[in-house]
Amino acid sequence: GYRSRAAYKLIELDDKFGLIRPGMRVADLGAAPGGWAQVALKRGAGHVAGVDLLEIAPIPGAILLHMDFTEPEAAEALKEALGGPADLVLSDLAPWTTGHKATDHLRIVALVETAALFAMDVLKPGGTFVAKVFQGGASHDVLDALKTRFDKVRHYKPPASRTESAETFLIAQGFKG
Ligand code: SAM
Repeated sequence: GYRSRAAYKLIELDDKFGLIRPGMRVADLGAAPGGWAQVALKRGAGHVAGVDLLEIAPIPGAILLHMDFTEPEAAEALKEALGGPADLVLSDLAPWTTGHKATDHLRIVALVETAALFAMDVLKPGGTFVAKVFQGGASHDVLDALKTRFDKVRHYKPPASRTESAETFLIAQGFKG
């Protein structure tokens, strides 16, 4: 079994888009409790470096950082934990909501943007970036940057993602470097 229901979303995304290949170096943003890291390793990833605000129980093959990904020092720490350029950057980051719509929207947009900038900094040419986004969650600037720097950018809502949830996933493949 996997630690999270979210694990099944990554399984479905991988079945559809062929994201995970043997030996890959994978970054996992918003990794707690560790379901996506488990799926990536089970499907052959060589190394996973994850980060979350919450502590994550150890997973063999993964380095799991207990940090706020939006803090300036997080990107460097995660790069060090990766140990080299990434093949795949996964983001299932979901901010704690405040209930104040405008604030929540800004937070979501900022998280997706931070994840995208990190991906474009650490990915190998040919690499893939996958991010959970919410309705209206990725700004036009971020989407434009991704469309320029990746061969293909698509949106997909896996069946395991509940219909009533506003989340969907952005899949950017073929990083141009
Ligand atoms: N993919 C995970 C799995 O399968 O186990 C589930 C991830 S959960 C949907 C989203 C996570 O994003 C939460 O654990 C939350 O703590 C984390 N998160 C939200 N904002 C964060 C931030 N600024 N830095 C690090 N983690 C953050």
